[in-house]
Amino acid sequence: MTHSEGFATRAIHAGQEFDPTTGAVIPPLYLTSTFVQAGMGQLRGGYEYSRGGNPTRTSLETQMAALDNAKHAITFSSGLAAEDGLLRAILRPGDHVVIGNDAYGGSYRLISRIFGPWGITHTVVDLGDTAAVAAAITENTKLLWVETPSNPLLAITDIAALAELAHAKDVRVLVDNTFATPVLQQPLALGADIVVYSTTKYIGGHSDVIGGAIVLNDDELAEAVRFQQFAVGAISAPLEAWLTTRGIKTLPLRMRQHGENAQAVAELLESRPEVERVYYPGLESHPGHELAKKQMSGFGGMVSFALRGGREAAIAFAESTELFQLAESLGGVESLMNYPALMTHASVAGTELAVPENVLRLSVGVEDVADLLADLERAFERTAARLA
Ligand SMILES: *Cc1c(COP(=O)(O)O)cnc(C)c1O
Repeated sequence: MTHSEGFATRAIHAGQEFDPTTGAVIPPLYLTSTFVQAGMGQLRGGYEYSRGGNPTRTSLETQMAALDNAKHAITFSSGLAAEDGLLRAILRPGDHVVIGNDAYGGSYRLISRIFGPWGITHTVVDLGDTAAVAAAITENTKLLWVETPSNPLLAITDIAALAELAHAKDVRVLVDNTFATPVLQQPLALGADIVVYSTTKYIGGHSDVIGGAIVLNDDELAEAVRFQQFAVGAISAPLEAWLTTRGIKTLPLRMRQHGENAQAVAELLESRPEVERVYYPGLESHPGHELAKKQMSGFGGMVSFALRGGREAAIAFAESTELFQLAESLGGVESLMNYPALMTHASVAGTELAVPENVLRLSVGVEDVADLLADLERAFERTAARLA
């Protein structure tokens, strides 16, 4: 593959060549920890030990690099392991990170509570406020951490504008592209230096794998991230890598349907009197709508909304749906309901990243949209009955 093919073609074929020894159309799953050597130091296929490399992982990394038209993809045991590997490759004691005020709670926890004690400082900013971002950058700043759309409030940040600003000060820009996926947003093409994914979410797409990836063009940094991974061992294991390659083949199809269903869900929520506010970039009422139209090729499958009834209503509603199952995570084919304040974002309660207590987050799946809408309408009735 040369990366000149269309996106769906790359998703299906990059790194997925048939097995030359048997003709199997799907590359085998290499469940092996080690590789027999032909002689001292003579590797048969370039592989030595699976912490350093495994053909199934290579297959996933080739496929993932192709999706972002990137030179390198390095896949890890989780999204946070990928972030950790990247941060260790870039940061040294005394360095500083600027991070958006509604970044994924786990990313913030990693930077503040794991890297903090090792001498890394950070500043939390509103990424929509360019002047605040510029002011937050110091001479020790090494990284600007952007998440767009953000989790869970779906804020949209101008990647190209921030990349220009950061690069003028020699600061690298990382984009957590987990929500948009490379189908809807190409951060490297917009000027970012590094893309991170929790492949647990849309990329894997079937809620059966935990994984992560760092995608980038910088050869030297890629080498440094690989070294961190090799030395520590937070690799994407073969079965997880193989399941992820399978998920990716339908990523463009799934993202299209997630987006269509999410738009319908967001419009239904916006029409309900019980709802104070809907957070979905596909709605014209969303402050980032125009920017999202420019920067993305669709709005994705995540919808958050605030209920007028506060915490009590949010919890009642979260327990009232059937198709939207109450569970952490997102991006699978099945719809999920999350209450950030007590679930995914409990770790940032009381910080600048805390999520309002009346907000619910939906991961809108690819079920029949009429069934999803009916489930939500029923939940409004049940919530009203329960609160009465
Ligand atoms: C889930 C998630 C992560 C962390 O990924 P894991 O695979 O759970 O470690 C990072 N960023 C975002 C936006 C996420 O949703």
